[in-house]
Amino acid sequence: MRLSQAFVPTTKEAPKDAALPSHIYLVRGGFINQVASGIYNFLPFGKRVLDKIRAIIKEELDNAGAQEVQLGFVTPCELWEESGRFKKYGKELLRFKDRKENCFVLGPTHEEMMVALVRGRVNSYKQLPLNLYQINLKFRDEARPRFGLLRGREFLMKDGYSFHATYEDMEREYRLMEETYKRIFTRLGLEFRAVEADVGAIGGSASKEFMVLAQSGEDTIVLCSECEYAANVEAAKRKMPQPPTEAPEFSNFEPFYTPNLKSIEELSDFFKVHPYFFVKAVAKKAVFDENEEIVLFFLRGNDELQEVKAKNAIGADELVDVTDEELEKAGIVPGFIAPYEQECRIVLDDALKGAKGVICGGNKKDYHLIGADLSHFDEALFADIAAVKEGDLCPECGAILKLSKGIEVGHIFQLGTRYSEAMNATFLDKEGKAKPFVMGTYGIGVSRLVAAAIEQNHDEFGCIWPKEIAPYHVTIIVSNTKDEVQVAFANKLYEDLKEAGIEVVLDDRSERFGFKMKDFELIGYPYGVIVGKNLSEGKVQLVKRKSRQKIDIAKEDILKAVIEAVNQK
Ligand code: ATP
Ligand code: MG
Repeated sequence: MRLSQAFVPTTKEAPKDAALPSHIYLVRGGFINQVASGIYNFLPFGKRVLDKIRAIIKEELDNAGAQEVQLGFVTPCELWEESGRFKKYGKELLRFKDRKENCFVLGPTHEEMMVALVRGRVNSYKQLPLNLYQINLKFRDEARPRFGLLRGREFLMKDGYSFHATYEDMEREYRLMEETYKRIFTRLGLEFRAVEADVGAIGGSASKEFMVLAQSGEDTIVLCSECEYAANVEAAKRKMPQPPTEAPEFSNFEPFYTPNLKSIEELSDFFKVHPYFFVKAVAKKAVFDENEEIVLFFLRGNDELQEVKAKNAIGADELVDVTDEELEKAGIVPGFIAPYEQECRIVLDDALKGAKGVICGGNKKDYHLIGADLSHFDEALFADIAAVKEGDLCPECGAILKLSKGIEVGHIFQLGTRYSEAMNATFLDKEGKAKPFVMGTYGIGVSRLVAAAIEQNHDEFGCIWPKEIAPYHVTIIVSNTKDEVQVAFANKLYEDLKEAGIEVVLDDRSERFGFKMKDFELIGYPYGVIVGKNLSEGKVQLVKRKSRQKIDIAKEDILKAVIEAVNQK
């Protein structure tokens, strides 16, 4: 491609709302442009990157025996009514009617459509297993679309669904998909981790997320410093923490006057007792299908509530904040909440099991209770609701856990019969009995990967594409397009590289050299060749984008040098 003819509108201007490098560089580099909030066009270079990612995903999935299909993006509401998700999905599901008043949604995910496709067409265990996938648009009317391609409303997803006769077979496919995903992300040249993920309130079934490691990631992941253990903080476990110091000794269980002392920090200073020996209360309003209720969560003073774990512990759809007025109305004293004598539901963190000699709220303004003993509380009130924090110990091997940030680029899930049962999708087993399909589901954020790659690979000058997904491997920069010798040499090199199968662009634009170098860095081709003044001394320069290192190379060796650089592993 000759850049003089290419549609790659680079610009100095960053989008106003852009804070993240991928958002800034992808727009400035002319890869994408915004159409509306969370909706983007892909320009030629962006499309090339997207297609490369797509091709790698397709190749690996086809190799693993999955089959590609393409389902409608506009899906009938009836299917969503059947699965029970029409109501549940909330505002992210964009619903609309056609001219005949038929109700439709823009597919945010395709479990319903895929079950409807297989239902009635696959009737026997002999036709199983089956793994169908598509790489197709999704629409989610996200509350806060942001960060460019990382959280769009319209985005490209690979979504796969497998159908099995037994749970064992579904688990086998799940492991195969895990291996396949690892191969895909490795080929994409990304540093990633497969982490245990939240499976929701139902629990039991397994789920893993694939996280590209990047400081800007919205997800917090917990990694063991010694073993393979890795989990999303929403699902992370830990070894029960040990007391950091000797427990304080209280001779009595009694109220203690603590005027205006509410925070654990203030209380810890006041009593000279480590936060571990305090009982912290977090009040939330839990939202269920039909009702709402206040729930009080209790934790060790040095722990924080993990809201997803807390939500799952009580089977709620959502936890929302509750105001002091609402608490007071329910007879609760904000800031001084005890786990005793509460009318509403309480949940205590597992780390409080058997706690004695601790300090908790006094259910009375300005009072705490000292010498509290929680060892008599019913087992059923306890659950794992604390957020794992840096320095906690690995549940598998006991080594120190560390926190890191990640971008979720893939998700695999053992679904079971949730959809097949609800939608009455069955097959006949060996005995001729009708059984619901056992399903797995597997997603990859294809357009999100374009941005995730840049979040992980950039510097202050622009993108640094991993070679496998770079829009082109190399650009030849003609320093002075009026110099015929330079132009002729660059043209010849361009043709020779194309011939050798190298993806090459020729920057033959009549712009200043500095301008073209800036574009080279912004777009982030892995390599550049500068054809400049030194050509008269028989030399050109090879630039590595990542290190920005320039190496002089004899003009007759440059073809070989570029081919070697691009092809090296
Ligand atoms: P998130 O927690 O980031 O909102 P999710 O768990 O809701 O994502 P899934 O339903 O698991 O997403 O979808 C499969 C994949 O699709 C995700 O792993 C992610 O890579 C991608 N994805 C989800 N939502 C978006 C979005 N709004 N924009 C771009 N990609 C997305
Ligand atoms: Mg997910």
